[in-house]
Amino acid sequence: MAVLSEGIKRLFRRPFTVRYPKHKPKLSPRFRGKLTWDRNKCIFCFQCQMACPNNVIKIDKEKKEYFADLNKCLFCGKCQEVCPVPEKAVRLTQEFEMAKLKKEDIPERF
Ligand code: SF4
Ligand code: SF4
Repeated sequence: MAVLSEGIKRLFRRPFTVRYPKHKPKLSPRFRGKLTWDRNKCIFCFQCQMACPNNVIKIDKEKKEYFADLNKCLFCGKCQEVCPVPEKAVRLTQEFEMAKLKKEDIPERF
């Protein structure tokens, strides 16, 4: 009887999943998605490049360029954690839709 009543209750309960991509999931504020970098905030200290466990980040201080091979990113958040700038020059956004048809299209130069 308990099983039957539980089954009936579940019939009227809202699902835990969403119909993606029609409906976007509600992400946690701590969700770690696509990396972004702000040239105007960066002090070119190389902390993020050194902390990255997968050699994703390459910085060219002379050209003021930032290259992140997102194919290799683990979304661990270390780069953001070590960035000494209070407003974080590098941070992980809530963006998770990064699929591309070609692998070469994924690496990003800022
Ligand atoms: S999230 Fe982790 S793996 Fe990705 S760039 Fe930052 S430190 Fe590297
Ligand atoms: S840790 Fe922050 S300030 Fe330092 S190079 Fe990386 S993004 Fe720039």
